[in-house]
Amino acid sequence: MTAGVIEEGTFIDETAIDDALGAAATKDAGRVREILAKARELNGLEMDEVAVLSSVSDPVLLGELFAAARDVKDAIYGARLVLFAPLYVSNLCNNDCLYCAFRVKNTELKRRALTQAEIRQEVELLVDQGHKRVLLVAGESYPKQGFGYVLDSIATIYEVKRGNGEIRRVNVNVAPLTITEFKNLKGTGIGTYQLFQETYHRQTYADVHVGGKKKNYDWRVTGMHRAMEAGIDDVGIGVLFGLFDWRFEVLALMQHVRELERAYGVGPHTISMPRLEPAFGSDIAHEPPYPVSDVDFRKLVAIVRLAVPYTGMIMSTRETANIRRETFALGVSQISAGSRTNPGGYAEDEKFDTAQFQLGDHRGLDEVIRDVADLGYVPSFCTACYRLGRTGMDFMDLAKPGDIKHHCDPNALATFLEYLIDYAGEETRAVGDELITRKVGEMDEVRRAHTEKMLDQVRAGGRDVLC
Ligand code: SAM
Ligand code: SF4
Repeated sequence: MTAGVIEEGTFIDETAIDDALGAAATKDAGRVREILAKARELNGLEMDEVAVLSSVSDPVLLGELFAAARDVKDAIYGARLVLFAPLYVSNLCNNDCLYCAFRVKNTELKRRALTQAEIRQEVELLVDQGHKRVLLVAGESYPKQGFGYVLDSIATIYEVKRGNGEIRRVNVNVAPLTITEFKNLKGTGIGTYQLFQETYHRQTYADVHVGGKKKNYDWRVTGMHRAMEAGIDDVGIGVLFGLFDWRFEVLALMQHVRELERAYGVGPHTISMPRLEPAFGSDIAHEPPYPVSDVDFRKLVAIVRLAVPYTGMIMSTRETANIRRETFALGVSQISAGSRTNPGGYAEDEKFDTAQFQLGDHRGLDEVIRDVADLGYVPSFCTACYRLGRTGMDFMDLAKPGDIKHHCDPNALATFLEYLIDYAGEETRAVGDELITRKVGEMDEVRRAHTEKMLDQVRAGGRDVLC
């Protein structure tokens, strides 16, 4: 690590963003096509190019933009879609984020921090559905042992073993930490540390964060620098779309990516794309100040795919099944399924008076898997990279020349087969078996032989077969 700690988010340059957006408001089809051709070379795009794409509205050009995103997604990620479930451990929070049901001023919300025994029960239910990855989520206030509560919770999650099942990767979405706290977090063996800036626009940020530590824009926007300094090299960034103009936010996201690349030689592992959803006790969540239409949402997913082709893109169950399906083709590489946003929600089902926001997709894991497989995507429970030390720069070194596919494709099929054998309903099993046969058949001879060997190991009772 060479960059040193920074304390201010001066790398987000609002004037440069405004200038790029102002200069891009053209209808020059030739320029758009030039940029799409460049994006197909898989080397990403510059800010001014992203600004031009965000101004595209002509239906023909929009079609070409979507086609380019599809091709880039295919070239790098193939047909895989990684699955995870969020695990809300606590809705205690000292902040006052106007869009969130957990905000301190929402006195109607029932507050709850799960005990370690309750967390164990939630994890058992997720493992019994077939999940292998969870995203731990909490508000910014912890029960009496302080941040140690989160560390204990991660240990509890990893301890659960049920038959062939266990959680193999815990990602974490909690408020930004000091370097020492980040080191302790890394010590628990987490996968990705996620933190969304919500909005990169300073004035809007100040308007919607009106109480608590989260008011400090700079502490949040420099959070990933501290995480990287602490040795967490898989970090996930994101924007809460609907708070400010999405075009501004996408350019600011790019500035954040480029800053991490400059400082640490590696950008974020993932980008999340939450859109503001209705939340209990929040007016602005019901009426977003800058609503993002479905067309613009698809467009921004496609643009991010072209701009940073090697960064995973996450789509949660905030979105409906239909929007999720459409964005798989445009660049999304990870999805949640069967989610609850209320602590205790897997044991007790959805409860609006403890949940963070409303879900758009209420289907269970098996139904989502069947749908994904029906569409020709391979549901993947793979956790190999981080467990084999392929994180941060090592991951990007493999990802950039496209080599990661040689690991991902067999791992995806082997973990999908584990799911089919151990957890799937009959109908899903049939769809899945057919998909595996087809995907293996499409491989070249060397990879086919290697993959068949892994699948045979799973059929013979082997689990967690990694390559
Ligand atoms: N409390 C920590 C924080 O704010 O960083 C971490 C967990 S917070 C529960 C996770 C994310 O939920 C936030 O970063 C925000 O983007 C998202 N969120 C909050 N309210 C939402 C809403 N109404 N609709 C969609 N997403 C929301
Ligand atoms: Fe608390 Fe996070 Fe919700 Fe803000 S977004 S109120 S910090 S849980």
